[in-house]
Amino acid sequence: MVSVVTRFATPTELFCKLMPIILNTVLVFSITAEVSYLVIVEAPLEPDQKKTDWSTIWKAIHLFCQYFMLGNITWNAWLFVKTTPSIRGVFLGGEAMGQGWRYCYACETHTPPRCSHCYDCNVCVLRRDHHCVFFNQCVGFRNYRYFFCCLLHMWAGLLYAVVMNAEVFIVILKEGVTLHSIMLLLVPWIMLVSGQVTARAFAFAFIADTCVVGFLLVAGFLFFHIALMLRGQTTREWHSSRRPYNLGTVNNVVECLGSRWYLCWLCPLIPSPLPGDGIHFKVTGSLEPVR
Ligand SMILES: [Zn+2]
Ligand SMILES: [Zn+2]
Repeated sequence: MVSVVTRFATPTELFCKLMPIILNTVLVFSITAEVSYLVIVEAPLEPDQKKTDWSTIWKAIHLFCQYFMLGNITWNAWLFVKTTPSIRGVFLGGEAMGQGWRYCYACETHTPPRCSHCYDCNVCVLRRDHHCVFFNQCVGFRNYRYFFCCLLHMWAGLLYAVVMNAEVFIVILKEGVTLHSIMLLLVPWIMLVSGQVTARAFAFAFIADTCVVGFLLVAGFLFFHIALMLRGQTTREWHSSRRPYNLGTVNNVVECLGSRWYLCWLCPLIPSPLPGDGIHFKVTGSLEPVR
C-alpha cells in the first residue's frame, strides 16, 4: 500500500480547482437551455421570427436527444472527477518490480510503467494520460472511459448545437454583412457593454459563438484521443516512435474503455471491466523510457 501524505487545500487552491468545473457546468447548461428554447419556441432572436412549425413528436425527439447527451456529459464528467486514477491506496506489488519501473521522489515509492507524477494533483497516476485543466483531474487508467465518453458526448452535443444555431447566424446576417452584424458575431460583449444590442441578441450571439469555438476545440481533442486509443498510446507516449503497448486496434480500445467498449458510451452505468490492473501491461515491443 502506498501512503501519500494528503494536505488540505487552501481557499485559493479550492477556488482554482472548482472554478473551471463551475464554468464548464454553466456553459453546458446554458447551451442546452438555448437549444431547447430554439426547439420549443422556434424563434431565434425575437418571437416574430418564428420560421417553421415542428410537430410535437419531432420536438420530443429533439428534446430527448438533447437531454440524453446532457445526461451523459454530466454523469460521465461527475464519475471522471470522482474516480481517482492515482496510486493512493493501491498495492503496487512491492518486490515484483521489472522493466519500466521508476522511483518517484515526491511520492517516495517505486512506480509501475506508464505511471507518472502529476504536479497539479501532487501524486503519481496509473497509466497517466494528462492532467485535464477543464475538470482539474488527471486522466489515467481508472477514469479514461468516463473522460472519453464525456468528450464524445460533448462533441456530438456541440455539433448538434452548431447546426441548431445556424439559424441564429442566418437571422443576424439577414440584415446583411454590416459592421453591426459582424461586431455582434465577433465581439458580442463589446456590443452589449456599448449598448448597441439587446441582452437577448447578445445571449444568442454569445452562445452561438461559444458552440462554434467549443466544437472546434472538442473535435480536436476527441480525434486526437481516438488516434491515441487506436495506436495504444497515451498523450505522454505520443512523441515516441515505438509503440510497445500496441495490442492491435480492438484490443487497444478494450484496454482503454473496457470489454463493453461498444456499449459503454450509451450510459456510464453499463459495466465495462478493464482487462488489466493499471500496473502490469502486456508488451509487444521493446520498452523505452518516456519522459
Ligand atoms: Zn509521484
Ligand atoms: Zn493531475
